[in-house]
Amino acid sequence: MGRDIPFETNKVFIGGRWLAPQGGGALPVENPSTGETIGEIARGTAEDIDAAVAAARAALAGDWGASSAVERGRVLTRLGELVRRHVDDLAVLEADDVGKPLAQARADAVALARYMEFYGGAADKVHGTTIPYLDGFTVYTLREPHGVTAHIVPWNYPMQIIGRSVGAALAMGNAAVLKPAEEACQTALAFAALAAEAGLPAGALNVVPGIGEEAGAALAGHAGVHHVSFTGSAEVGSLVQAAAARHVVPVTLELGGKSPQVVFADADLDRALPFLIRAGLQNAGQTCSASSRILVERSCHDEVTERMATAYRDLTVGPARDDLDLGPLISARQKEIVEGFATQVQPGRIVAQGRVADDAPAGGHYMAPILVGDLPGDHTLARDEIFGPVQVVLPFDDEDDAVAVANATDYGLVAGVWTRDGGRQMRLAKRLRAGQVFINNYGAGGGVELPFGGVGKSGHGREKGMEALYGFSAPKTVAAFHG
Ligand code: NAD
Repeated sequence: MGRDIPFETNKVFIGGRWLAPQGGGALPVENPSTGETIGEIARGTAEDIDAAVAAARAALAGDWGASSAVERGRVLTRLGELVRRHVDDLAVLEADDVGKPLAQARADAVALARYMEFYGGAADKVHGTTIPYLDGFTVYTLREPHGVTAHIVPWNYPMQIIGRSVGAALAMGNAAVLKPAEEACQTALAFAALAAEAGLPAGALNVVPGIGEEAGAALAGHAGVHHVSFTGSAEVGSLVQAAAARHVVPVTLELGGKSPQVVFADADLDRALPFLIRAGLQNAGQTCSASSRILVERSCHDEVTERMATAYRDLTVGPARDDLDLGPLISARQKEIVEGFATQVQPGRIVAQGRVADDAPAGGHYMAPILVGDLPGDHTLARDEIFGPVQVVLPFDDEDDAVAVANATDYGLVAGVWTRDGGRQMRLAKRLRAGQVFINNYGAGGGVELPFGGVGKSGHGREKGMEALYGFSAPKTVAAFHG
């Protein structure tokens, strides 16, 4: 399984060819469900990045640069069909690489197909404007690609993040260089193979796996790159922005979060409950938009906490291929970090815990999900991104208090509001500091169509939806005097 896609796991993909990395190095691939090494990937170098950027430039000077929006749309649509045909292969690759339960990995593969369909269909629908100006002038704008776009992505949702950033960049006629995370390169390489099969010209998409400080840093600071899309931690994001600034290159930063769901006493709790939990624990909580803070109006705080606790006690963690509620964390290091957070809570504040399946392999990085209550608002668990299966429940008194607690972090990625009061829905949507606000839902099934991105330490710029197409292009104003 997963081997039906013709990619070479220990190579870089540059200019349409599978090549050995120039330093000849390799990195192990670990299956987080077992702790076993299941293969190796190329350790791409700065020289590989140079070659990838040169191949992207050559594609722009050749067929790809000359392609029409309609042709680009067709290639992406074909790629979407191929991804759909290989959804199960991609899901298995991702489950083994990232530890994501199969159903979640499959959902990511379907989202990748959706991104290709969406951006395939949208490629020829980005229009310029005509601008009334002085007598004797005709003025209009053209939307032009940046040129070579760099895409540095994390390990938690490789397929979705590649889909939304590479898909939009290609739709607008850019040529992409993709540096997947060292922990999760398989589906990026498989995607490149499918793109070639779909007819994407050589060099339009290049993939260089490797270490962040090596291949990633070389790409972020490369003089031949015209735009950088970075998805990952705030710490590395600021390094990437600084590296790109050396060449005055624009950057989109999709960073972390500490996203709240705000539950008022008049909410439909039966509908809310699964969202409250799933939004926090999907992908074992290793989700940028994970709702790790549940804010509950004091009058129903105990009821909501108790109902969440009951659900938590039923949650089981186990190998990705067993498709239980949660899979393992990505690595021993990640588990250590998350457990470090958990030890900062007095045991009495742990309201409920799930369990690790008895037969889960001893080498896997399993952690039972933890629900925490009764925390002061300035506790590190209430403010910092944990990136693991830990949710905190915090009480609030009224609407103003809810907004104050919700906005009391440096992040601003996503927020959820649960209330039947229409006026309150609208007020909260305006007052919550976030790039997306969901009312009486959260996450909305992947939301390929929905612009996404953050404020504050969650980053800047927007991906997904039509908005991404504007981010991956620049307007050129043409002012013609004809008398
Ligand atoms: P990370 O920042 O450690 O790594 C992300 C990518 O950056 C990887 O490909 C890595 O190799 C590369 N990198 C590392 N050092 C680099 C450097 N010096 N220069 C250039 N590239 C470098 O993040 P992670 O641990 O892989 O992912 C987790 C983080 O990503 C969390 O904070 C999470 O919230 C965030 N995230 C955000 C979104 C979003 O859309 N906002 C989505 C997913 C994950």
